[in-house]
Amino acid sequence: MDYFPIFMKLQGEACLLVGGGEVAVRKARLLREAGARLTVIAPELAPELAAWVKAGEVEHIAAPFHPDMLGCPRLVIAATQLREVNRQVADCAKAAGIPVNVVDDPELSGFITPAIIDRSPMVIAVSTGGKVPVLARLMRARLESLIPAGYGALARFAGDWRDRVKARFTQVDERRAFWEAVLQGPLAEAVMAGSDARVASDMDALLASDARWHEGCVYLVGAGPGNPDLLTFRALRLMQQADVVLYDKLVAPELLELVRRDAERIYVGKARADHALPQDDINSLMVRLAKEGRRVLRLKGGDPFTFGRGGEEIDSLAEEGIPFEVVPGITSASGAAAYAGIPLTHRDYAQSVVFVTGHMKDGSFNLDWPALTREQQTVVVYMGLSSIAGLCEGFILHGKAATTPAAIVEWATTARQRTLTGTLADLPALAQEHGIQSPALIIVGEVVQLADRLAWYRRKPVGG
Ligand code: SAH
Repeated sequence: MDYFPIFMKLQGEACLLVGGGEVAVRKARLLREAGARLTVIAPELAPELAAWVKAGEVEHIAAPFHPDMLGCPRLVIAATQLREVNRQVADCAKAAGIPVNVVDDPELSGFITPAIIDRSPMVIAVSTGGKVPVLARLMRARLESLIPAGYGALARFAGDWRDRVKARFTQVDERRAFWEAVLQGPLAEAVMAGSDARVASDMDALLASDARWHEGCVYLVGAGPGNPDLLTFRALRLMQQADVVLYDKLVAPELLELVRRDAERIYVGKARADHALPQDDINSLMVRLAKEGRRVLRLKGGDPFTFGRGGEEIDSLAEEGIPFEVVPGITSASGAAAYAGIPLTHRDYAQSVVFVTGHMKDGSFNLDWPALTREQQTVVVYMGLSSIAGLCEGFILHGKAATTPAAIVEWATTARQRTLTGTLADLPALAQEHGIQSPALIIVGEVVQLADRLAWYRRKPVGG
């Protein structure tokens, strides 16, 4: 280890910054966040620094650095563009025994500043010993995306309850088990989501009873349209915490791979006419698993509340008093639109968009045709592949021109995506000719014309 990492308390402490440009502004911002009393030495100041000085929040010595100006601060940072000046500052500080950093100059520096991931009170600092700052910044970007934004709130929450938990569980092992359960459970998710109101009473209840903190919960998670890149951070985090996962046909294998390795996997099917488990059985299975104390992940394609029966699934949980959480996902219409280059609304072509299901009940559609055939509107049909001929015919019978642009997008957003564009008149034949399979979405409206121009990534062009 070339450098010894420490976290230094600077609240109310005098710190000296030499330099008034953009680099100095960045350092000043950090020092201010740490509560330092800041003095800046520079003939001129960048606007942000000048504003702080004007507001009386930062002291300013409007002159070039001179050794007499050093004083006895806790820290010195030299951020001028002149190496000679920086060297002079560093020499003076070192002689006075004050820690000094020269920005981007490890050779002159007594200490270096890390890349910071701030989830105060939790702070992560990354350093490459001043050798490859870019690498430290890249690492920071990765960590930023891994660590939930709500971690600060979680750390504050745990800090606030520390003494009470300590009083309740006198054994270290017990305490650790309690915190491990709480910090990975539904309560922690509620804290990170900022729903403080419930949290205090739930914590009281947990501390009052032995059994309840072993209680299970259900996460109803939207996994997006299939491409793992389109998962939310929250979905990924819960996938990596779950004890058991219930998934259906629309969840791509690439997505399942991201679920915690030792989690149990249960296929509950549900493609049209291929119900591996009836809905009621899925509901009661979730209830049973949660009651066994397990964290159940119900993984759904797209968004759980868009043609996903998510509402019904959590209804039985609510009835049983089982904690649950719903995580939205990118619905396949949004995914297909973006990946096929078909904006769902557009100033010139569509001022509204309608999502409908094309699923037939007893051989007929239950659709509001006058509403669907309006001008300047895009219609996206979910589950419409098997009835595509009847659908397209219906649009025409109810007044749409046979030449209205229409598209079908199969396995949208995945490597298998295929997009076919045509008109209401020829789309059914096109789909059949190319052997389009489920899952597929049908998009009807003038916006479809834009597909050729706006498709940014057509992995598998169809028809040459
Ligand atoms: N909750 C899901 C929809 C479930 S209904 C969502 O929000 O997307 C199932 C239908 O969704 C399928 O029949 C198909 O029409 C559509 N669908 C889901 N994923 C798809 C994908 N990757 N490509 C095209 N259509 C998809």
